[in-house]
Amino acid sequence: MGQFYAFCGKSYRKFMHEGVKSPVFKKYTVAGGGYKKNVKCPHCQSTDRTRLLYLFFKLRTDIYRNKTRLLHISPNMLLARELQSIPTVEYTCGALTPECFSPFNAVKVDVSKMTFDENSFDVIVCNHVLEHVPDDATAMREIFRVLKPGGFAVLQVPLALDLEKTLEDETITGRKERKIVFGQTDHLRLYGVDYFDKLSSIGFRVVRDNPFADNWADDLERYSLDRNEDVFVCYK
Ligand SMILES: [Zn+2]
Repeated sequence: MGQFYAFCGKSYRKFMHEGVKSPVFKKYTVAGGGYKKNVKCPHCQSTDRTRLLYLFFKLRTDIYRNKTRLLHISPNMLLARELQSIPTVEYTCGALTPECFSPFNAVKVDVSKMTFDENSFDVIVCNHVLEHVPDDATAMREIFRVLKPGGFAVLQVPLALDLEKTLEDETITGRKERKIVFGQTDHLRLYGVDYFDKLSSIGFRVVRDNPFADNWADDLERYSLDRNEDVFVCYK
């Protein structure tokens, strides 16, 4: 029997390593990004951040019991498969390139300009997307608009815990430069803890839910999660 357990049901003595080494992620203590040991399941390829959301929905929400209209934007395939399979969930997958998500009948969604009516969804999952979006404030407003009052969005980003103000510079456009300054070639900024002020200014009430600090379960060590990574639950 292995020590670590992934939601595919397999367990291993140890998971594989994953991610790209990034000095800027290390410098500012970034949760939810960079190189990590013992995170990737050799069987289903799930990583810590996918298992975190899987456990969050299982243990901290009622979507397995109550009828839920859920929008999943540019999803992780494993999480998409899980959420789509829940009988109580009316699942919509949206992506800029819906052809890449055909098993989920994806529709075209530009997160900065969505075609859904306001108050359409109970839950929106936009996981590690905003750091790639040029106008993130507009995207946050759009997510707020299409969310139902009382609903919530899960808006994970790589978060620099030791950085007060988000690093952003439109003149930095090269892949090499972006990697040096923001930590990854395709990231347009590095979010600091003012990320929560940005979300609050749109109207969200943000709750940071941490599996360890908030005692989600007794056997959390088995899932090899990042202890620093909270789920950012953004209520409308
Ligand atoms: Zn697995």
